Amino acid sequence: MARLSDPITVLKGIGPTKAKQFAALNIFTLEDLICHFPRGYEDRTKLIPIEKLQPDEPACFKAMVMNTPRTSHIRKGLDITKVQVADHTARLSLTFFNQKFTADQLQYGKEYIFYGAVSGDFIGYNMTSPVFEPLDSPPLTTRRVLPIYPLTAGLSNASVLKAVRQALAICNPPEEIIPRQVRENYGILPAERAYYAIHEPASMEEAELAKKRLIFEEFFVFSAGLSLMRAKRAAKQVPPYENCDLTAFQKALPFTLTGAQSRAIGEIAADLRRGAPMNRLVQGDVGSGKTMVAAAAAYLAIQNGYQAAMMAPTEILAEQHFASLSKLLTPLGISVCLLTGSLTAKQKSLVREDIASGRARLTVGTHALVSEATVFQKLGLVITDEQHRFGVSQRSALTGKGVDPHVLVMSATPIPRTLALLMYGDLEVSILDELPPGREKVDTFLVNESYRSRINAFIRKHVSEGHQCFVVCPAVEETEGMNIKSAEIWAETLQKTVFPDLRVALLHGQMKGAEKEAIMASFAQGNADILVATTVIEVGVDVPNATLMVVEDADRFGLSQLHQLRGRVGRGKAKSHCILFSQNKNSETLQRLKALCKTNDGFQIAEEDLRLRGPGDFFGARQSGLPVFRIANLSCDLQTLKSAQQASAHWIDTEGTADTPEAKALRSRIAQLFARSEGTMN
Ligand code: ADP
Ligand code: MG
Repeated sequence: MARLSDPITVLKGIGPTKAKQFAALNIFTLEDLICHFPRGYEDRTKLIPIEKLQPDEPACFKAMVMNTPRTSHIRKGLDITKVQVADHTARLSLTFFNQKFTADQLQYGKEYIFYGAVSGDFIGYNMTSPVFEPLDSPPLTTRRVLPIYPLTAGLSNASVLKAVRQALAICNPPEEIIPRQVRENYGILPAERAYYAIHEPASMEEAELAKKRLIFEEFFVFSAGLSLMRAKRAAKQVPPYENCDLTAFQKALPFTLTGAQSRAIGEIAADLRRGAPMNRLVQGDVGSGKTMVAAAAAYLAIQNGYQAAMMAPTEILAEQHFASLSKLLTPLGISVCLLTGSLTAKQKSLVREDIASGRARLTVGTHALVSEATVFQKLGLVITDEQHRFGVSQRSALTGKGVDPHVLVMSATPIPRTLALLMYGDLEVSILDELPPGREKVDTFLVNESYRSRINAFIRKHVSEGHQCFVVCPAVEETEGMNIKSAEIWAETLQKTVFPDLRVALLHGQMKGAEKEAIMASFAQGNADILVATTVIEVGVDVPNATLMVVEDADRFGLSQLHQLRGRVGRGKAKSHCILFSQNKNSETLQRLKALCKTNDGFQIAEEDLRLRGPGDFFGARQSGLPVFRIANLSCDLQTLKSAQQASAHWIDTEGTADTPEAKALRSRIAQLFARSEGTMN
């Protein structure tokens, strides 16, 4: 017997060249191969008489070869091989293009099983390039449910098939990690059967069952892993915070906290007093006031002799947090500093000195914070803003800078519950479901070009009332062949021809950090009436005087993204509006955009977005920090996810630390999974 960890080169027919092709699919070991699951199946189990073949519907049939294949050389690079076959119902002419070698294997007078489709444009039967196997050979590509594998250049489905079949013959599939009781409760196939049946199903139904089991397994391992992390953290001990008096903090605030803010701060304070590291997510819609909740947490850490750090995903956002937090905390005698990538080396090293000596009590920054050069004197609290933009590894890198620091994660993107459980299954959650008083709902309208002049007048009206306006475009520059607005061109058009008397500014992601900051700060101070921008303004930027958000080519954006953009207005007392321009005529697209006009509930929008676009797009590529699932799909397998979560939670409570072989196997699989997704088990 071979081992799962053996390289695939132990298989017959796989030398260095083939191995390289498999490597392109991330397949190196027998285990990788066995876990290379089909993306679909073709039911080739039924044999059909030639007479019954339907045009363009591929099917299997048994036939005898009626003559010796004949090849004509048509021109350079084109050979045509023809051969006649027949069964008791009809004759059929087969044509192969440039496949002389293949076709010549058909022997006159012998019977084969073929799989192919008759072409629809001939009366009388003809078929192009069917696959075939001799009647007396074991079924490989005919007479079975054929798995269809994800492939790569040079690698055919048949060669993957053969390799997998060999692998399954010479080694045992991954061991069972789902307890028998769970399998029985949820109607789940045993591992051995599932790993075999996913590649060699006896029927389409069995393929489905195998798939269900393997999806369940992935979710089960992942959620068990999160539960273990949570349990481990809860068992750790840190000194409880003694001093949780917030009177001075509250006095310094320019407003009273909302009920939701007070509740969240109360939950945080309770965590900090408990004596185990806090691991909490604060989730709240845009504008719900998460920054002040974070500030309160930082204040508590600092009152108890610790340093706090807050990581934001962009420089603009870090700078804005720095500005508002230092304004609030400096009068309380707390020194706040800023550490971002765009500081000069000299400035950075000065800030780092302050952090190392403990002079800096709260440090706000971008990922520059997690760089090795940053050493804290006594880091007790780590806050990350807009968490889903950071990978799990960045989250833990910052955590590693203190000894079991408390962790507070803030997310402005309402995340569908199911996904939140997956991404943040190791976190406690506080929800800010209340906006500060005096905020009016932002009215949203979907319009097309015919409204252009009316919207221009509307922009003018907002500006004449002393307010400001955002115009967001999907692209920075003009792209050939793409009919979408670019921020650069559109800003110029607006300034030169539409609003020559108004002040139009431009902001986009290709600008340098310092330049972006200057433009944003200047806009916030009222030095421009209209800011034409790309989605760089999506995250957290606060300009209360801005009351109008115009989004060009709105169909180019995801719903959650549009919701975030809309959240940039309606931050002051005045009534705000959001205009979505779209020339798209697709009714589904328009439906999607209309959904946004109807609701301001970020959670509802997020669910809709997830349903429509799937989790990958939902968070943007590689931003989610989620592991790569091999077979599970977050947007369609939610029911299975829920069952797996239930089952794994129960497992943790009952057997999580048990010494049984199954429990050990599961723990080692968890470790593997998290290593693969660059996370840690701290
Ligand atoms: P977000 O949750 O989107 O991060 P912020 O923390 O940026 O929201 O807060 C949005 C705006 O609301 C800021 O201008 C902030 O000063 C203000 N704000 C926060 N809490 C309150 C409150 N309780 N009352 C009034 N305004 C508040
Ligand atoms: Mg924020």
